[in-house]
Amino acid sequence: MTFEPVFSARRPILMAGPCSAETEEQVLATAHALRRSGVALFRAGIWKPRTRPGTFEGVGTPGLKWLQRVRQETGLPVTTEVANAQHVEECLAHGIDMLWIGARTTANPFSVQEIADALHGVDIPVLVKNPINPDLKLWIGAFERLYSAGVRRMAAIHRGFSSYGDSAYRNAPRWQIAIDLMQTFPDLEVLCDISHICGRRDTLAETAQMAYDLNYDGLMVEVHPTPDEAWSDAAQQITPAQFEQMTRTLVRRSLTADDPDFLASIENYRRAIDEIDEEIIALLARRMELVRDIGLIKKEKNVAVLQPERFRALREALLVRGRKNELSQEFITLLLEAIHQESIHQQERLINAPAVAAGKTPL
Ligand code: PEP
Ligand code: MN
Repeated sequence: MTFEPVFSARRPILMAGPCSAETEEQVLATAHALRRSGVALFRAGIWKPRTRPGTFEGVGTPGLKWLQRVRQETGLPVTTEVANAQHVEECLAHGIDMLWIGARTTANPFSVQEIADALHGVDIPVLVKNPINPDLKLWIGAFERLYSAGVRRMAAIHRGFSSYGDSAYRNAPRWQIAIDLMQTFPDLEVLCDISHICGRRDTLAETAQMAYDLNYDGLMVEVHPTPDEAWSDAAQQITPAQFEQMTRTLVRRSLTADDPDFLASIENYRRAIDEIDEEIIALLARRMELVRDIGLIKKEKNVAVLQPERFRALREALLVRGRKNELSQEFITLLLEAIHQESIHQQERLINAPAVAAGKTPL
């Protein structure tokens, strides 16, 4: 797939507006207050997908007229979330500038297909949020369905992934998934929805800076004139003034610098890093040799591959070492788990391979 740009070349792309359109006054007040903050696109949810019933589920179709007024009065293009063909029809009938597909909808291929079918032959940009589950293929699948319907102007919105239990984030960012999307489609514009990732105000700025540092094209931010009184997602919304202040203090960095000294020193550092990476691979290969040697003696004595006590002890020891060397607990855990899994595979192959090959052990 090759995408056509949704936005002008100006970076960062700022997309802001309330979680939900609540009243005409609230929508217009937000839009007018945002007009001078460099916002490229005004957002407001009209049909709200809520986790549990009995909460505010959006004002529905009448809200589309409020968005029309926003464009007339402020000149800002407007967008809202669509989850089915009827939403698409209503938006097209009201001249909404762009559509966005929400996280719950992206997760459902039936709904995405229905939206794609409704967009056949229609030239309107579509923003696709990541699915709630961390599945890059499903996210890409949504782009493919729309692409097959002829939609070319598409951009992605990374809003994090659902998780259960306590976390600093409302939706875990899992940055690597968005990075993988960017690597797969270098011409796809990607925005970061910091509001739904954070779920709270106090971490918005640092998360936005992280997104800038990862070369995101821009941000989606929920903005409300009186956030504490918002009918949905009150804890994560900020005022237009806070939005302006935050975006002004964020630092935008360029992908590279053409200064020769900079290029020469980065080249030197990279050479040193490449050497270390080579050493790491060589060390891992040696480690796996030892793992296979252990595998042989385990096989001889019929001892289990997985040794829980040993793994626990190894993990504890490495976490301590990691802490001493300023390596995060998450990183050490991931690294050790990856190494341990490979070790298990290697021993499994060694211990069971001949029997499997001889067809004696069903897999
Ligand atoms: C929203 O942007 O208001 C929204 C419902 O987001 P998501 O689909 O990411 O949950
Ligand atoms: Mn919201």
